Amino acid sequence: MKKQFAVIGLGRFGGSVCRALIEQGMEVMAIDVDESRVNEFRDIATHAVVANTTDENVLKNLGIRNFDRVIVAIGDNIQASILTTLILGELGVKHITVKAQNDYHEKVLNKIGAEQIVHPERDMGVRIAHHLVSKNVLDYLELSDEYSIIELIVGQKMDGKTLIELDIRAKYGCSVLAIKRGSDIIVSPQASEEIQRGDILIVIGADRDMNRFEQQMVDE
Ligand code: ATP
Repeated sequence: MKKQFAVIGLGRFGGSVCRALIEQGMEVMAIDVDESRVNEFRDIATHAVVANTTDENVLKNLGIRNFDRVIVAIGDNIQASILTTLILGELGVKHITVKAQNDYHEKVLNKIGAEQIVHPERDMGVRIAHHLVSKNVLDYLELSDEYSIIELIVGQKMDGKTLIELDIRAKYGCSVLAIKRGSDIIVSPQASEEIQRGDILIVIGADRDMNRFEQQMVDE
């Protein structure tokens, strides 16, 4: 059975979540208090509804309990975001994802039982900053305060060397999870795999180890 999602708040973030879920074949109810925003989603979402989600009865009547996951993407109106999340929890919605505007908002959301809290602007800012500092770092995913996954492009320094020659794990404490080569992806590459200029390495490790690896092995 198709998973059923409800997206509350159809700004840039909520709207993009809604479109991506539909593209992945999910059923999505798109909800916003602003009729013009809802109209934009009439032909996109499975259902598009004008509703103020700070009203408990409105959410009850929408049968919100029956959705597999509800995404609260109300941006600037933090009060409406908190109240909506609180009501969803009280109505028994188990899986709630909420977009937080700032750290205080996140603290409150944690206390009232939001299962997943996302900070799209903050996270994208961090990812872009890593790319700006080193143009060879294509992407950055923070796993915890200390660990992350990065995608970096192979230049001259590593060209033609095997993973065993580079000895990345022993020297830098990082592991190469996969190598992207054109449209191929080599998952868990063998130690004998020879790396070529233009390959993209997907590497996991502690931030301080990855910094050392980047400084020594990635071209300027
Ligand atoms: P983004 O950063 O995602 O672009 P945005 O700045 O567009 O966010 P906002 O406009 O603050 O975000 O809020 C997102 C949507 O949430 C808006 O379309 C707004 O109408 C809707 N919204 C705000 N309050 C409520 C509410 N109580 N019930 C339903 N929708 C709401």
